[in-house]
Amino acid sequence: MNELSYDLIVIGAGPGGYVGAIRAAQLGLKVAVIEKEKLMGGTCLRVGCIPSKALLESSHNYHAAKHQFSDHGIAVQGLTIDVAAMLKRKQKIVTVLGKGIESLFKKNAITRYTGTGRFVGETTENGHVIAVANNEGETRLTGKSIIIATGSVSSPLRGITVDETHVLTSTGALEIDQVPKTMAVIGAGAIGLEMASVWSRLGTEVTVLEYMDKVLPTMDQDISKNMQKILKDQGINFQLGVKVTKAEKHPEGGCVVEIDGKEALRPEKVLLAVGRAANTEGLRLDTLGITCDARGRIPVDTHFSTTARDVYAIGDVIEGPMLAHKAEEDGVACAEWIATGHGHVDYNIVPMVVYTDPEAAAVGKTEQQLKDTNIPYKVGMFPFMANGRARTYGDTSGFVKMLAHADTDRILGVHIVGKHAGDLIAEAASAMAFHASSEDIARVCHAHPTLAEAIKEAAMAVDGRAIHA
Ligand code: FAD
Ligand code: NAD
Repeated sequence: MNELSYDLIVIGAGPGGYVGAIRAAQLGLKVAVIEKEKLMGGTCLRVGCIPSKALLESSHNYHAAKHQFSDHGIAVQGLTIDVAAMLKRKQKIVTVLGKGIESLFKKNAITRYTGTGRFVGETTENGHVIAVANNEGETRLTGKSIIIATGSVSSPLRGITVDETHVLTSTGALEIDQVPKTMAVIGAGAIGLEMASVWSRLGTEVTVLEYMDKVLPTMDQDISKNMQKILKDQGINFQLGVKVTKAEKHPEGGCVVEIDGKEALRPEKVLLAVGRAANTEGLRLDTLGITCDARGRIPVDTHFSTTARDVYAIGDVIEGPMLAHKAEEDGVACAEWIATGHGHVDYNIVPMVVYTDPEAAAVGKTEQQLKDTNIPYKVGMFPFMANGRARTYGDTSGFVKMLAHADTDRILGVHIVGKHAGDLIAEAASAMAFHASSEDIARVCHAHPTLAEAIKEAAMAVDGRAIHA
């Protein structure tokens, strides 16, 4: 093995790639990571999870100061929002976390190559040959095992011309430098609702255009209905069941959005948020004989193996929920599989959180999925209206909904709308990982007053014995 040959080369330093690399290094492998962007951390850190949550926090504080502080007897005069300062704060958080990954790489003796990685279709006695190209030229590395962790990009939509100044993807929507008067958001998924929340709280009149007849269509119906009502009450407009046929910059300023059978809109900005697509561009998978599926994803078996020997794929570039923590779990399990022959992810227990205010969170099956698969179930619901801690927060919206097997009482799914739902869902995920029954949760002492008591009460409600509702 020479200095440019590795036990493992990871292409892409997002949450899947960098976490997998660290786990492999912990297990004693000599690891290199190729990342084309200067800052590691992938979509999640650079233009996804972290910057969006930073803006959600800033806009929440502004909105609370404007509309909620007075309830506490706090008077604020001359309140303004400095968008440049808000963006600067966001960028600082991103940079600090990116530097953190660099130091983790140093600590774990992982070599980072900056450039675009691709297969050259050759193997030597040291493994697959990977070319890394950047402005200075090309370097060739060899790896006994390769993990492809190249993530995803925003999905385009026919008729929509993205220019990132007027018609934006989420990347552009994280960089808007003045509060727009009006905005149309195409897609009522996680990105659509989170970014609609950010700009609506800062004063933009936002209209969300969704193809399906509900918001967050893949989540439990009770979450969809509740979130739509809450966000509507917050001032976000919805047009559901609509088909956008065109969106582009308008020569007279702003944008035009054409909707099938409806009046066109003339918003100042448009955000396109209709999902993300696997990113395999430029990897030259053809040199390995790998063919992507109809949605452009790399097919893998249960151990992340592609059809090419010793080549693995994880995260957004393969099937499954496009979530950072799912990519991380893939990374760990794939590294463990390569190094030890063991590695597993339970895809039945991948929580999902939408960081609106209140948040929506879920783990396990929805009620519809249980109905569709004829699994007998019981439902326990508990509203935050009856939770003391929610009252002290001044936000009693939402509920906890627990679904348990009708015969065994095993928890099959938990769905929450409410303050800090994203933190609360961890209890449900842990319980499900230990195959808990609703009664197990019902009999655990929960601190008072906490929002988590609503989970205990929902568990008791499965058996018709909630105390406070
Ligand atoms: P990515 O994070 O996409 O990383 C892939 C990396 O590979 C990138 O850094 C890319 O530059 C690099 N790369 C690609 N091709 C090459 C190549 N040929 N050579 C070298 N490098 C290459 N998920 C959540 O769980 N929670 C959230 O709150 C959340 N919020 C989000 C908000 C937004 C606005 C967006 C867009 C996404 C959000 N996501 C969230 C989704 C999350 O970002 C992704 O699921 C996650 O980043 C996927 O991780 P990954 O490692 O598979 O890929
Ligand atoms: P999404 O799949 O969550 O939502 C896309 C929405 O667009 C859906 O409601 C869909 O019905 C709608 N849609 C599709 N085509 C349409 C059309 N032609 N016109 C109108 N609406 C249309 O995708 P997203 O919100 O773009 O997010 C992309 C990925 O990033 C998702 O996989 C998501 O899980 C992930 N993400 C996660 C978080 C989080 O975990 N909080 C935040 C942001 C993004």
